[in-house]
Amino acid sequence: MDCIFCSIAKHESPADIVAETPDMIVFKSIKPSAPIHLLVVPRRHIASVADLADTDSELAGEVIQTARRVARDQGLEGYKLIFNVGRKGGQAVDHVHLHLLGGWQGDAEE
Ligand code: 5GP
Ligand code: ZN
Repeated sequence: MDCIFCSIAKHESPADIVAETPDMIVFKSIKPSAPIHLLVVPRRHIASVADLADTDSELAGEVIQTARRVARDQGLEGYKLIFNVGRKGGQAVDHVHLHLLGGWQGDAEE
């Protein structure tokens, strides 16, 4: 399977990695839409939020918990968390990821 986020998760493709856990990888978006634009990505390939199983609640929670920890570590006071779901929802990469957007108005700059 040809998936860029799987490839980044396996360190087979380069990315600006910000944090890693056994189950998650966090890296900078190649085309940032905010001063800080990170992608929180489970290592396991799941195409989108729409493809989560009922048994994936722990993983879904861990994505948000990872975003919270990274935002805190980056010194962010406020931020946005966004899942794009499906082409009609603006999703371009078919490996589930949570956008962490922030850094406006000097937040986290010092
Ligand atoms: P989506 O539109 O699927 O919700 O968001 C895809 C995100 O992945 C965008 O922020 C886009 O810039 C980012 N992206 C796409 N391809 C790559 C890549 O090869 N490397 C990195 N670091 N980010 C990517
Ligand atoms: Zn993948």
